[in-house]
Parts: sequence; structure tokens; C-alpha cells
Amino acid sequence: MEPQRSPLLEVKGNLELKRPLVKAPSRLPLPGSRFKRGLDQMEDVLEPEKKRTRGLGTATKFTSSHPRAPAITTVPQAQGQTTAPKVPKKTGPRCSTAVVTVLKNQKPGPAVPAQKPGTAAAPPKLGGKKPSKRPAWDLKGQLCDLNAELKCCRERTQTLDQENQQLRVQLREAQQQATALGAERRTLEGELTRVRAQAEQGQQELGNLSARVLELEERLGTQEGLVQELQKEQLELQEERRELATRLEEQERRLQASEAALSGSQAEVASLRQEAAAQAALLAERGERLHGLEMERRRLHNQLQELKGNIRVFCRVRPVLPGEPTPPPGFLLFPSGPGGPSDPPTHLSLFRSDERRGTLSGVPAPPTRHDFSFDRVFPPGSGQDEVFEEIAMLVQSALDGYPVCIFAYGQTGSGKTFTMEGGPGGDPQVEGLIPRALRHLFSVAQELSGQGWTYSFVASYVEIYNETVRDLLAPGTRKGQGGECEIRRAGPGSEELTVTNARYIPVSCEKEVEALLHLARQNRAVARTAQNERSSRSHSVFQLQISGEHAGRGLQCGAPLNLVDLAGSERLDPGLALGPGERERLRETQAINSSLSTLGLVIMALSNKESHVPYRNSKLTYLLQNSLGGSAKMLMFVNISPLEENVSESLNSLRFASKVNQCVIGTAQANRK
Ligand code: ADP
Ligand code: MG
Repeated sequence: MEPQRSPLLEVKGNLELKRPLVKAPSRLPLPGSRFKRGLDQMEDVLEPEKKRTRGLGTATKFTSSHPRAPAITTVPQAQGQTTAPKVPKKTGPRCSTAVVTVLKNQKPGPAVPAQKPGTAAAPPKLGGKKPSKRPAWDLKGQLCDLNAELKCCRERTQTLDQENQQLRVQLREAQQQATALGAERRTLEGELTRVRAQAEQGQQELGNLSARVLELEERLGTQEGLVQELQKEQLELQEERRELATRLEEQERRLQASEAALSGSQAEVASLRQEAAAQAALLAERGERLHGLEMERRRLHNQLQELKGNIRVFCRVRPVLPGEPTPPPGFLLFPSGPGGPSDPPTHLSLFRSDERRGTLSGVPAPPTRHDFSFDRVFPPGSGQDEVFEEIAMLVQSALDGYPVCIFAYGQTGSGKTFTMEGGPGGDPQVEGLIPRALRHLFSVAQELSGQGWTYSFVASYVEIYNETVRDLLAPGTRKGQGGECEIRRAGPGSEELTVTNARYIPVSCEKEVEALLHLARQNRAVARTAQNERSSRSHSVFQLQISGEHAGRGLQCGAPLNLVDLAGSERLDPGLALGPGERERLRETQAINSSLSTLGLVIMALSNKESHVPYRNSKLTYLLQNSLGGSAKMLMFVNISPLEENVSESLNSLRFASKVNQCVIGTAQANRK
């Protein structure tokens, strides 16, 4: 809004705009052209008029009837009329010219049109009549006219003087007013400058403020965004806080419950501790008793084994295999024991028909009956588990520290390998004594670990062929052609024997034992030739060195378990022609027979408590010397073929086994330290 200006500012503004001061009423008869030069010049403008007016006083011709100038205050300013028409010097009376000159600076009223040159106003007629021209001769009349005219002029002069006086007064007032206005103008200009400076400063400040406002608005926008984010976050946090509070409450509830339970549990723990202490004492006492009982068990177990005999013989007859001729009925009989059919059989009767023995009447002699009695007889239908059940207790003796030796004796094809290692195909039902014995030992050792016993087992597997020892566990390139091994004492003065070049492998589970048996089978297969089924012609000795320790009581025990698959016991047919192959076979057979009879002799010597036991007569007895006699327990399986064609060999085997069975080896002593 435009502020209301003071009148002074209005004037000033008009001046600045160079507009004539026509709107403001003025008492000055100022023509527009003159006013353009400014108020300060007014006096200069008026001065010549004054002079001229004064000069009129000397004029001789003056029309007294000239109308008076209109009052200054009432003269309206004619716009654009800045120049009055010039009065020609030569026309009209002088008075008229003077009047016209004076009036030139006045604004003529609208009703007073400017007179045309040449038609200048005639001298005013005195008395309302136009004076007629006096004749030249009427000097008096002329004088009279002149006097009248003079008088008129004088009056006019007086009037003009008065006007002049008034104008001067007005001029002075105007000058004073102009001076005041000038001063006011300067003041106002100063003020204007100051105001302008202020305005500029204001503008600048306004610009700054606008920029600041923009910046602040921008910041405000950012802050508002931030505030919104924070509000959102705050809401989320509040939600989270609520959740946490709920969870906290829940946790606190649980904690209280737990604390309650804990205090209950602590009381329970205290009572349990007391109970545990009592139990520990009881346990220690029971452990003591258990140990005593274990020792007692071992003693009784040993007594039982001794009662059964430190050397026992079991007879096992294998079944007739598919494709084999069925033996005549009654060829082999398994009579019941004194306890009837429920008793396990211990007797075997073999009927041999001898064609050479004829009767006088020519009727064939009836078959000869051969009765044998053993610790146990297993008829053809007996399973591997049934057989093992009988020897499990004996095997366990090895854990108690008694050396154990189990032999399989019999002709080739009688089932020795089947008994010791098992049948073909890896069927668990036909697993042999070696894997079953080891599984049993691992299991019992595990049970005894609860009583503080720790056991370790080391296995070796060698074969003795033609009085040479070979490692059946030779790995890789040595397979089937392992270097010759020697049986040596483990150290000077040591009773323990070891086989050089043979591997002694620690075992702790069935899988490891399976792997060893598999390796041994591979080694045998490599050594086999078409002409020579070597495995039948060699003794296979599986040895397991058992070491037990009871750290708590400082007890140690250890003994070897030997599982021996002996070479075929058959004799060489003396009727056979001796070709190069047969000669070799004869040598093998002699070696086998020698070692088997040495085994029998050793057992006899031990039984008869002879001073010399011929262990050194064969590699087999030499290797097994620590497991034969003395504290050792021995079991011999005599494997029998069910076929009639093998009757001679079966009888030989049964006779050998019977001799062994009659042996009683002295009371066994456990190898305890
Ligand atoms: P050896 O080792 O005495 O020469 P094997 O153990 O090799 O005799 O037995 C010869 C054959 O008879 C093998 O085929 C074997 O599987 C089988 N055999 C032996 N004993 C039994 C048995 N108790 N039950 C079934 N088959 C048997
Ligand atoms: Mg065999």
C-alpha cells in the first residue's frame, strides 16, 4: 500500500516528475513556462516586469479605460499557453502596448480573447463614448484630453504600484516559502537517501531473510522428515518395548519359577549329595566285594576248567556235502551219554567193514565197531554257535591270564578251516571260532573295564609250511611271498617268543579282525598252485597276545590265545608211484607228520611230566611252547569226514585224538604278576 504522502512530498514528487505546479492553488500569476525555471528564479522573472511597469510611469500614452488585470488568485492557469502573441511595435497606442505587455505574464481569462495585432484596443472612451478626433487646431481640447489621459495614467500608476507592493509581499512570501520548501526538500532528500539506504538495506536483509527462510524451510522439511522417521521409529520401539516388557514379565515369571525350583533342587541336591556319598561308600564297598567276587570267579572258573581237564578233545563230524556219496546207514553213531538224549553227546562209534577179513563161509565179516569217547562230540548237524558256546569259557581263561591253545586236527577236507575261520560267503551263521572268540573277548574286556580292567590285544597270523614260517599278514608287495620268518625270543632271558618279519597288529574291534582274516585268505590264495593246495599242507597259527591291567590295584595279567588250523593229517598212499610231484608231496607229508607227531609227543611228555619236552623238534611246538603245558589250557578239535571212503583217516585221527584226550597236563597256573 502506498503510504499517504504529505503535501510537501507531493510537491517534491511533482518536482521530481518535472510536472508544472498547476494542481496546487497559488496566488501567483505564474505562467507555466516561467515556472519551469523554478521558484528561485521567480524574482528574476518578475523584476523586469517591475522595471517595465515602472517604465510605464514615463509613458505618455496610456489608456485610462484599460481594464484591470484580474486578481492573481482567481486566474486559472491555462495549460499549454506558455507564449503570448507578440505585440507589433508599430501598432496601437503605447498605453495599450504597455498594458498588453503587463498582461502578457498573466493568464488571460477565458472571456478575454487576445487582441489581434493591428486591432489593438483603442483608448478607452471617456464617458462611454469614443472620443472623436480633435481637429489640429483644438489644442485646448487636446490638452484637456491629455490631462485626462495623464490623470488616468497616474491613477493607473498608483494602482500598479499598489499591485507591485502586493506582488513584492507575495514574492517575499513565495521566496520564504521557496526557501522553506528548499530546506524541507533537502531535509526530505536526505531523509529520502536515508530511507533509500534503509530500503536497500531492508531489501538486502529481506533477501537474506528470504534465503534464510528458504534454508530454514528446507531444514524444516528435512527435520519434519526426520521427525516422521523418528516418530515411526519411536512407534516401532514402543512396540518392541511392549514386546520386551511382555517377554521380560514372562522371563521374570519363569525366573521366579526357576528360582523356586532351584531352591527346591538345591535342597534335593544336598540330600542327593549325601545320598551319593553314601552310595559312593557303598559302591566302594561293593567294588571291593565285586573284585573279591571276580577273583573268586576266576579261581572257580579255572577250577572248573581244570576239572574239565587242561587238555580237552572235542570231536566234530562235518556234514556230507552236496555231490558226495551218502555213507551207509549206521556208519557213524553218536550214542547218548549216561544222562540220556538230553545230555550233549560225548561218544562216537565208527563202523568199519573190512573186506579183507572174510569168514570161512565166505560171508563178509560184520563191520568192526570202534568206540571213542571225548569231552564233547559234535554230530554233523551242529552249528558254529553251538561249537563256540562250548569253548567260550575256555577262551575267557585267556583274559584271566591262562594261555590257551585250540587246535583243529584232521585230514584234509574234514572241516578244520571251516571250524576255525568259518564257511565261505561271509555268512554270520557260519562264522568260525577265530572271529567269534575275538568278539567274545572284546565284549568281556568291555565288561571288565567297569571293574577297572584295561585290556589290549595284538594279533599275528603265520603259517608253517615245510618247517618254514611265513607271515600271513604281509601287506602289499610282500603278499604271498613274504620273506622267511624266524622264531626268536623277544629278548635275552625272556620267555616270550616272537616271529621275526611277521606283523603284530593291535586290534580292538571285529572289523579289524575281519580285515586281518581277509588279508590272510588273500595271502594263502596267492601262494596256492594247481598241483599244491598249500593251505592244506601247512599249519596256520593265529595268535592273540592279551594284556590286562588293573591300574587301581596295580594288577597285571596277560596270556596268548592260539587258534591253530593244523595241516591235513592224512598219510601218503604207499602204493602211489613216486614222480617229481609226489616226491615233493612226500616231503611235505613227512614234514607234516613229523610236526603232528611232535605235537603228540610234546603233549605226552607234558602229561608224563617228563624232564625233556621236545618242543624244538618242530617249528609248530617251538612256536607254541609257552601255550602248551604248565599253566596252559589246551583244546583239540578232531575233525572227521562223514564219508566211508575216509574211514581209515578218520580212525587214525580218532586214535590220535584219543591219546591226547588221555593226557592230563598238570594244574594250570595263571600268568599273574
Ligand atoms: P579242511 O580245512 O579240513 O581241509 P574245510 O574246512 O576246507 O576242510 O572243509 C571242507 C569242505 O567242507 C568245505 O567246503 C567246507 O565248507 C565244508 N564243511 C566243513 N565242515 C562243515 C560243516 N560243519 N558244515 C558245513 N560244511 C562244512
Ligand atoms: Mg583247511
